Amino acid sequence: MILHDAERDTISNAKSGFRPLAQHWRALLLAAPFVYGTFFITANVAIPGIWQHAFLKNLLLKPCALRTATGIPCPSCGATRATVLASKGRWLQSLRLNPVGVFLVVGGGLLALWCTACAISGRDLGLSKTASSVLRNITPRRVLLLVVLLWLYTIVANFKR
Ligand SMILES: [Zn+2]
Repeated sequence: MILHDAERDTISNAKSGFRPLAQHWRALLLAAPFVYGTFFITANVAIPGIWQHAFLKNLLLKPCALRTATGIPCPSCGATRATVLASKGRWLQSLRLNPVGVFLVVGGGLLALWCTACAISGRDLGLSKTASSVLRNITPRRVLLLVVLLWLYTIVANFKR
């Protein structure tokens, strides 16, 4: 029996509960592990490498303007160092600087795994539902609240050191 694509999709969709993905979406999702790999190598190898060279460090990694001028850290202070530490599995040291590092390394890694699983299986696996739910829940007020909380965190973390 020959099934049309739409019929086959309907049958397999009913079996797994997840929507089949178009080829272009599978190809795009397959880029996720490479993007994450590049990010991880940058955090684990490239940035520590740049730190070793005074010239490159001065050229590429500027010290925080707010902290230099006032001594008060900004919400993103320590984020680069925290990301480098998290990429090396030094979770506690990373969290002490800025929670953004662990969030990027762990969250990015899980997202890359999820995207890869979707690409390989050819199914949505709840990704689009989660993405639209997250996007729906991002409001300016929530973003501002998150930045304020992060700022309080970096200020407290800075005074504890
Ligand atoms: Zn800063």
